[in-house]
Amino acid sequence: MHEMSIVQGLIAIIEEEMENAGATRLRSVRVKIGEMAGILPDALKTAFEIITAQNGMNCAMLNMDIAPLMGYCRKCNKEFKVIGYNFSCLECHSSDIDIISGREMNIVEIEVE
Ligand SMILES: [Zn+2]
Repeated sequence: MHEMSIVQGLIAIIEEEMENAGATRLRSVRVKIGEMAGILPDALKTAFEIITAQNGMNCAMLNMDIAPLMGYCRKCNKEFKVIGYNFSCLECHSSDIDIISGREMNIVEIEVE
């Protein structure tokens, strides 16, 4: 389950943030997960629960926002939502596009005490 290593990376960042802020307890984390980031939200939640328990952060909450897959058309300079893995522009049907979001995973917010 590669979500375990993702969460380990996440916790490392959080611990550093907590140390910098002088915080002792993690309340919640909000992450943004791209639709196509290759992360299963359920698996991420399970991994988060396991790892936070190991690190004595038992009560921490994980909140997840799913970011839609967005494309950018190089031909007509429009941004559009990619629906049903149809990787072509909705306006001009060009397939000369860039994926601009939907593959990322970011920490949006960390709440500590
Ligand atoms: Zn277009």
